[in-house]
Amino acid sequence: MLTGGARRVRLGQIFGDDVPLGSLGSLLLDCHSVPEARAVLHGDRACRRLGLGARPGRVGLAAGPLCGSCAWTLPADHPVNDFALAVAGLRTPAVEVGEGAQADLALTSGAASAQPARAVRVWRRAQTRALQGFAATAAFPWLKPWAGPRLFALTGAVEQARGAVVRRIDPRELLAAACVAAMPAPVGLRDALPACTGSWGADGEWLLAEAWTRWQSACAEGEAPVADCVRAASAVVYEAFGRRRKGRDEALDNVQRLITSSIDQARRHAEKKHAGPVRLVQMALPLLETEPLTGREHDPLTPWQAGVIAVHQFGVDWSAGQVTLTAPLAVADLLLGG
Ligand SMILES: [Zn+2]
Repeated sequence: MLTGGARRVRLGQIFGDDVPLGSLGSLLLDCHSVPEARAVLHGDRACRRLGLGARPGRVGLAAGPLCGSCAWTLPADHPVNDFALAVAGLRTPAVEVGEGAQADLALTSGAASAQPARAVRVWRRAQTRALQGFAATAAFPWLKPWAGPRLFALTGAVEQARGAVVRRIDPRELLAAACVAAMPAPVGLRDALPACTGSWGADGEWLLAEAWTRWQSACAEGEAPVADCVRAASAVVYEAFGRRRKGRDEALDNVQRLITSSIDQARRHAEKKHAGPVRLVQMALPLLETEPLTGREHDPLTPWQAGVIAVHQFGVDWSAGQVTLTAPLAVADLLLGG
């Protein structure tokens, strides 16, 4: 049983014969091996490949080839852990990292209407892996010659995956969402209410304002195209009415009308701004986060932010973990939190 956060690490499989160990080669490891020069080092005394006469000892990581079958039990704070993690990440073939991008390419013939969420996830995974790879070579600079071709393939896979995202996202839709986000809340809603809102059971003005605000937030997050985000507004009506049906359809109609008028307004703004000036934006690329226990992925970027970065990317400084974009002003403002 492992205690104190100890880990079982298959060092032989990770490092192989080809990985330069640099200054970590002199790190002492608990090993089992037969007493001869360059004997294979084992981490597990029960390993079947252990030769007769093997003894335990503490030897440098580079003292001999590492057994590819057994694992070493290492304390969580052992310095070789981070290095092993870095190398393991770079060992994953780029084609596997960009998995899905190929399938996406096969599926799509420029279908912007296809669901972009999966393509975004594939791209963000590959991008995260590349960012981690560059961070690893910065932390362990002697890895550069070994890591170079891998990073080249990896960034190629990222670009391929980004291409699949770009084909699925309409930049005008991103701009329309930014225009929605910049709209002030509608005023004079009470005056536009029908006479019979008494049957709604909720304050009509509040209901419309709340529905509109939820729609605006859903657009800004990029949950769906702005027209489809009306679902978030309708949800407010369903929540307010509960099981009551009387007046509900009328309330839904009012919400739909209000939002349709706002969509028209946002699209007019977007049309004007589409050909307008652009702004250069430089920002750090956040990594995709993975919950250690469940393995569930969480993207700190909203779907809208991810879409904007994919569509408006101008260049990437992988070593700095930064992306440069050229985006319409309204898009840049929302991206920068303005
Ligand atoms: Zn072994």
